Amino acid sequence: MRAMVLGRQREAPQPTELPEPQPGPGQVLVGVRACGVCRTDLHIVDGELAEPNLPLVLGHQVVGRVAGRGEGAERFETGERIGIPWLGWTCGECRYCRSGRENLCVRARFTGYSVDGGYAELAVADERYCLPLPAGGSDAETAPLLCAGLIGYRALRLCGEPERLGLYGFGASAHIVCQVAVHQGRRVFAFTRPGDTATQAFARELGAEWAGGSDERPEELDAAIIFAPVGALVPHALRATAKGGVVVCGGIHMSDIPSFPYELLWGERVLRSVANLTRRDGEEFLALASRVPVRTQIETFPLEQANEALAKLRAGDVRGTAVLVP
Ligand SMILES: [Zn+2]
Ligand SMILES: [Zn+2]
Repeated sequence: MRAMVLGRQREAPQPTELPEPQPGPGQVLVGVRACGVCRTDLHIVDGELAEPNLPLVLGHQVVGRVAGRGEGAERFETGERIGIPWLGWTCGECRYCRSGRENLCVRARFTGYSVDGGYAELAVADERYCLPLPAGGSDAETAPLLCAGLIGYRALRLCGEPERLGLYGFGASAHIVCQVAVHQGRRVFAFTRPGDTATQAFARELGAEWAGGSDERPEELDAAIIFAPVGALVPHALRATAKGGVVVCGGIHMSDIPSFPYELLWGERVLRSVANLTRRDGEEFLALASRVPVRTQIETFPLEQANEALAKLRAGDVRGTAVLVP
């Protein structure tokens, strides 16, 4: 099969012919129809996340059809459309798994990081962690729901019930969260790089009440989610957030957070991160996304152009989500 394989960090993934993967016990073989490109993929390529399982097939927003089943795998029918998300396997035994927090499992395996993912024609996955997908929406349009949407949804849930929600960095996740939050009756304020009027207009199209530069403060917020991997936004967002409000860092990696005066945190403000997802998040979010209904903005690339897609994402030039179509 054709795949884009990362041989070493800080080098570009290379088009490679690999033997077809075989589904092991409890696994499904999936014919990949679309795979979203996530900022996490960039962090892996760029060496900001340690110890990926090299050589590695990246990609953890996989939409495909079941093409084969390993021993004992019977959850999905052959031909069924399913999604493979970031959470690929958990131990089921550690204190996190046993307390409903499998997203924090100490032995978790992640798709496109510790096991091969979807920058390929075929992928194998543990069927227990795959997600049945609702009908409707093309494969490419559905792919961004599997990480940008899911992690965004978990971050939104951790915000509580904010009336005024700030989104810092209006890319793949924020453009989905914006639609969900507006659907829930929240007022959304979108913060972009100062001067990025095109993205600001995009945010307003999706229902944001206000959009402007991250250096502006239109109104006090009840909660904020920071999707941009920029630590300097943390004091900005705390400063913009009302007493008792929550600031959630949505990314897996962020540049260092500059020191800031304690008074920005004082007043019972909460600063926290969001990490990974649980299977329950996946089920809840996909059902909600159908009800909203969430419309994703995508830009598709052939599999062999994965590096072009990654370069565009790195430059901040992707509107919505880049999606590879093998
Ligand atoms: Zn991701
Ligand atoms: Zn565990």
